Amino acid sequence: MVNPLPIERIRSFAEKVDRLIVVEELDPVIETQLRAAGIRVDGGKDLFGLCGELSQNKIRRALGMEAPESTGFGETVPPRPPTLCPGCPHRGAFFTLQKLGVTVCGDIGCYTLGALPPLGAIDTTVCMGASISALHGFNTVRGIESAQKAVAVIGDSTFMHSGITGLIDIVYNKGISTVIILDNSITGMTGHQDNPTTGRTIKGEPAPSISLEKLCEAIGVKRVRVCDPYALDEFKSVVEEELAASEPSVIIARRPCILLPQVKTAPPLHVDPDKCKSCKQCMKIGCPAISFADKKSYIDPTLCVGCDLCRQLCKFGAILDKEGK
Ligand code: SF4
Ligand code: SF4
Repeated sequence: MVNPLPIERIRSFAEKVDRLIVVEELDPVIETQLRAAGIRVDGGKDLFGLCGELSQNKIRRALGMEAPESTGFGETVPPRPPTLCPGCPHRGAFFTLQKLGVTVCGDIGCYTLGALPPLGAIDTTVCMGASISALHGFNTVRGIESAQKAVAVIGDSTFMHSGITGLIDIVYNKGISTVIILDNSITGMTGHQDNPTTGRTIKGEPAPSISLEKLCEAIGVKRVRVCDPYALDEFKSVVEEELAASEPSVIIARRPCILLPQVKTAPPLHVDPDKCKSCKQCMKIGCPAISFADKKSYIDPTLCVGCDLCRQLCKFGAILDKEGK
């Protein structure tokens, strides 16, 4: 534990050793606390420096020990960029936005991965809450023409943290912007922390749950829609309708993070190779469970959670559930 440090345990440990050396990356967080508590520290940042990652060899060399030569791979390892999980609720939303060709002002969370290929849907990401204020800025400068071709996307947790102020600005300044709140019912990227919408405190105790739709209505947004980003056709229609509106609108794309323990997944889907026409449409959603080899798509049953997005995209009925439908 870096904070609070178990100072007394470390003090009693320090009394039993000849030298106490603190090995920590970047700033001297632990070292400073130990020195402030009067614990003798014989080495720390003076040995390891403030920058970079500490490898075993770096530590050995800093301590005056021999370090073996590093070995590398003989051939180039293919890059593996981060990607949304199989069954992630955000995938359907980004596939739809990319298909519509709209400008997307993004924000900080798992959903920032919507910027990467093949989804490639996000155009800007600056800092927490910047999606809504950036969109408001674009639309204020460029008017209705921009407003009907641009959206902001922000997660439920980020919206509660710092997105709401931008939405207030849109209403107050008589803006016309479409904001999509990707409500996955948790703070996904940083490890499933609760937030004011989940009904639990950060320590998991029961707490009041703030309703996103009531909050947006209370701010003054008259057009608040709730829809499921797994339902691709419906989600697309809702986005098109709200982009066409000449007043502020909020779309709450609601579907919990697939990794939440209470979420029940469906049995894996599979591809019928005889029906697969190799069109690669199902590859466009960037699902890690789908691969393509020998001119056919393949769904890895150990990764697929049966979200059904790929099945909605296959025009040839080649993607089937366990009943063969
Ligand atoms: S943790 Fe949840 S929200 Fe984040 S990428 Fe995975 S499924 Fe999506
Ligand atoms: S969308 Fe259907 S036909 Fe096209 S590659 Fe995927 S499984 Fe095959």
